[in-house]
Amino acid sequence: MTFSRTRSDELFLRATKVVPGGIYGHLAPAGGLPKVFPHYSESAEGCRFRDVDGNDWLDFMCGYGAILLGHVDPEIEEAADRQRRDGSVLNQPTARMVELAEAMVSRIDFAEWAVFAKNGSDVTTWAARVAREHTGRRFVLKAKGAYHGVDAWCDPGFGGRIPEDRAFVGEFQWNDLDGLRDLAKEHKDDVAAIVLTPYHHAAFGPSEMPAEGFWSGVEELCREKGIILVLDDVRAGSRLHEGGSHRLFGFTPDIACYSKALGNGYAISACVGREALRRGARDVFLTGSCWSDAVAMTVAMKCLEVARERNVVGRLEQLGSRLSTGLSEAGARHGFSFRLTGPPAMPFPWFDGDDNLYLLQQFCELCALEGVFFHPHHNWFLCGAHDDATIDQAVEVASVAFSRLTVEKG
Ligand code: PMP
Repeated sequence: MTFSRTRSDELFLRATKVVPGGIYGHLAPAGGLPKVFPHYSESAEGCRFRDVDGNDWLDFMCGYGAILLGHVDPEIEEAADRQRRDGSVLNQPTARMVELAEAMVSRIDFAEWAVFAKNGSDVTTWAARVAREHTGRRFVLKAKGAYHGVDAWCDPGFGGRIPEDRAFVGEFQWNDLDGLRDLAKEHKDDVAAIVLTPYHHAAFGPSEMPAEGFWSGVEELCREKGIILVLDDVRAGSRLHEGGSHRLFGFTPDIACYSKALGNGYAISACVGREALRRGARDVFLTGSCWSDAVAMTVAMKCLEVARERNVVGRLEQLGSRLSTGLSEAGARHGFSFRLTGPPAMPFPWFDGDDNLYLLQQFCELCALEGVFFHPHHNWFLCGAHDDATIDQAVEVASVAFSRLTVEKG
């Protein structure tokens, strides 16, 4: 494929004058990303998007996970249009808020209540505060390298923090139960919460599934010490299990946070919890200018319903397995030990022995040159609009990329 980047570059140049850094956060252009990756998108449909220069891409990032069913899904957009005619942010919440809370409480086995916000960070930070309110304790324990949002207690950036922001945050290595127990012992009766994602999906490295006994050990520690177990299901929620990712791994949290896939691209996040946390949830202040958004809530409800009807969880697993097998076999044919790590629905690609990501970056660059949007630093996302044909198309492109990698290696 021949790519144009003219408009993308022009826009970025203009942005650097009026937006600090031009593009910030996880969407920022970074060293090691394919040079042909666009800076700006124009439109999207299903599992494809078009950038501002008119290049078409087969999408394996799906809005970094926000898109579950496919871009601009007709059923979702129709529901959104209908609600939009009645308004989105009014002076009171609409009935949609009660209906969505009921839908979530009935789907998520341990949940007795639900609240809504706009971003994952809104609810992960709030959940930690609810745990503090409930327990009267100070410490929050988390896994090293885990992302929970933009707030100062956990953000991965360098600026704008004072040491006190992290004075009551402890970190342990994912899957290291002994390390976690030691940390809990160190802060004895002062640990309010353990905040964890359902499996470890850090950027720049292979995903790590929970080791045998990890989750039961975490649960046991929490019950024994009265620590609140907060599940950060912002990234994986709706992709691994309709009832929440804890169901796939066989544990039960006290509070869980969702966002990304919940609104199929409309901004909404949710936090659900056990009955015992209701008082804490009521007493920790929670609000936002547009958080009662009836359009996003309508969409979230429709998305839950449609995802179930279309068996999206099952489909993503099947499509992800097809992608995983196809890529590993294609890699092996060209002498590479390549595999997808983590759950098939949202895999992180990995070349064994490629700790500096050199091969992975090259591989993604070669795929990008053929219009396949594979990210070398972040886990990928499948959506309900992928199908066997699009997976096979990606595998075909990847096969050629592996063959060219071989040439470059030799
Ligand atoms: N937790 C996890 C696991 C996430 O992946 C993210 C977003 N990448 C967040 C929290 C924060 O969500 P948001 O960007 O919507 O604030």
